[in-house]
Amino acid sequence: MSMNSRPTAKALFFWIAIIFLGVMLWKLVSPSGTATSQTRTGDWTLLLLNAAPLILLMGFCIFLIRQMQRGRTRFAGAASPAARTGIGYDLHRLEYGRPLMVGGVEIPFDKGPIGHSDGDVLAHAMCDALFGAAGLGDIGTHFPDTDPKWKGANSLLFLEHARKLLDEKRFSIEHVDAIVILEKPKLGPHFPKMREALARALGLSADHIHLKAKTNEGVDAVGRGEAIAAHVVATLSQR
Ligand SMILES: [Zn+2]
Repeated sequence: MSMNSRPTAKALFFWIAIIFLGVMLWKLVSPSGTATSQTRTGDWTLLLLNAAPLILLMGFCIFLIRQMQRGRTRFAGAASPAARTGIGYDLHRLEYGRPLMVGGVEIPFDKGPIGHSDGDVLAHAMCDALFGAAGLGDIGTHFPDTDPKWKGANSLLFLEHARKLLDEKRFSIEHVDAIVILEKPKLGPHFPKMREALARALGLSADHIHLKAKTNEGVDAVGRGEAIAAHVVATLSQR
């Protein structure tokens, strides 16, 4: 209610101010300075002649204000492109003796993800979030795990391809926020390198990418250290 009443109060205040200003100006340009003297002379023709320019001036002011308001609305509409959000999720089982790739960076550890490509959950979930926001399907549509071309592939290539597709559809990546869930090892110290690698693949500066890490508190396969998972939310705007 207060939000609706505020513009009404503003408009009321504006009109009172305009009327007050009009009366003051009218008194100023009156031939003898006061309304009583005009009433005394009864010179209605002179009164109308004095009031007409003020009425015209006020009308012109109102016209200008309305035009400015319309222009501002149009400008605001054009300058705020529609934002679109996509969500991505991925999980890979971990196996001894495989490289642990997360966000395009190899992290020293005795286990790594099983996958057709390098099994980078963060890059995969990010692809899905970007494709989802752009309405472009999912990672399996673009990079099927039956295609030998992608066997052992660096998943940053998927992100580079996603970026090209987004560019073609005139989408810009505004922000990407991610959570990687892994019992061990700690990922925080590797975040700066991951953000740089991901940002490079997406043609962004690293401040567009935010990373967080969680453990699964010992619960389920992720908690037992048998798997790694990632959730990503991406926000796009269309140019
Ligand atoms: Zn995956």
